[in-house]
Amino acid sequence: MTTTELLQYDRDHLWHPYTSTIDPLPVYPVSKAEGVTITLADGRELIDGMSSWWAAVHGYNHPVLNAAAKAQLDKMSHIMFGGFTHEPAVELTAKLLPLLPPSLEKIFLADSGSVAVEVALKMAIQYWQSKGIPGKHTFATIRSGYHGDTWHAMSVCDPVTGMHGIFSGSLPIQYFIPQPSVRFGEEWREEAMAPLRDLLERHADEIAALILEPVVQGAGGMYFYSPTFLVRARELCERYNVLLIFDEIATGFGRTGKLFAWEHAGVEPDIMCIGKALTGGYLTLSATITTKPIADTICSGEAGCFMHGPTFMGNPLACAIASASISLLIASHWQEKVKLIEEQLRAELAPAAKLPEVAEVRVLGAIGVIEMKHPVDMAVLQRRFVEEGIWVRPFGRLVYLMPPFVISTYELSRLTSGLLRVLTHN
Ligand SMILES: *Cc1c(COP(=O)(O)O)cnc(C)c1O
Repeated sequence: MTTTELLQYDRDHLWHPYTSTIDPLPVYPVSKAEGVTITLADGRELIDGMSSWWAAVHGYNHPVLNAAAKAQLDKMSHIMFGGFTHEPAVELTAKLLPLLPPSLEKIFLADSGSVAVEVALKMAIQYWQSKGIPGKHTFATIRSGYHGDTWHAMSVCDPVTGMHGIFSGSLPIQYFIPQPSVRFGEEWREEAMAPLRDLLERHADEIAALILEPVVQGAGGMYFYSPTFLVRARELCERYNVLLIFDEIATGFGRTGKLFAWEHAGVEPDIMCIGKALTGGYLTLSATITTKPIADTICSGEAGCFMHGPTFMGNPLACAIASASISLLIASHWQEKVKLIEEQLRAELAPAAKLPEVAEVRVLGAIGVIEMKHPVDMAVLQRRFVEEGIWVRPFGRLVYLMPPFVISTYELSRLTSGLLRVLTHN
């Protein structure tokens, strides 16, 4: 198949994420990727600024992860998790648990971030049911969140930028409060807790859990808020008998400067979701982790177990790669690396704040965000970025970088200077 034929076939038959089939945005045929370099079919090379949506923290085609994948392939790539267990799943769990909040010790291995969120929400519902406390059927969250594209995950995404309009009438109705008004790094103001306190005061008897992306809201707005909000939310959840879920699918594995974002606040959730960078961007794998008391309560209820079990649960190939990826991360100087990326992003993106089209520039950990005053033309901007030899995928008013941690100073400079050139002359 020539590249032209491939593109035509793709256009005729394949859906892409959030893309029209009638008038699809252009796609770029990619032939390989190595380190932070993505090679297009026509030989052009792009520096990766996206880590394939938070996932590829070690870059692409990593020899250690490749070796782990190949070794596991030769044993078995999959076996059902019902009635079987295996070293990759147990080893992964043994590596993960010491890195997670100490009270979380029961892990559910699922197959994507959205499913991990569904699992967390189902756990909360089954927990209250097993405890014999009726009526706790809904969830609370903050606006501008993103928790995935499946049914209940979608229902706790931002009601405006999310999919509530289109699916209203069939989506469950959840409680939304405004985004925490105190930003990351700002001095705490106690009145920021009023919306959550008022909500719980009035509706805690209907609410099973509060779900939050701790500190960094990702796809819903790339917004960084004060960790003290989490400390107070933990206290309120305790007081009003509401479970607290942290969705760390985007924030996990070092991205915000801490290994997991809950560490900024030091408060533990009742349930936590991880995914995305879990396998270093190789395969889809996620996990929902909870405490022993919650797991035991769920399983002491009418059903006698937690009612979920994906076909590819605990996939050995994904677990083996995840294990290798975690060891690689821990053995790397990720904390210094993320700090350096943060400092460089801060310095090199700062000039963008003066551009007339730019509303704000913000940086936290290995995340750099340029918020524009108006939504960007994705197709035009993407083409310009490719011409500059960088891979950046904006959405709405947000143009942002979250490069693999292995990026060099020089490569990161190419990313930021290319980005600034495009935004200046657009
Ligand atoms: C990406 C994401 C999800 C959904 O994960 P998928 O693997 O795409 O289903 C859920 N929550 C957060 C915070 C995410 O960033």
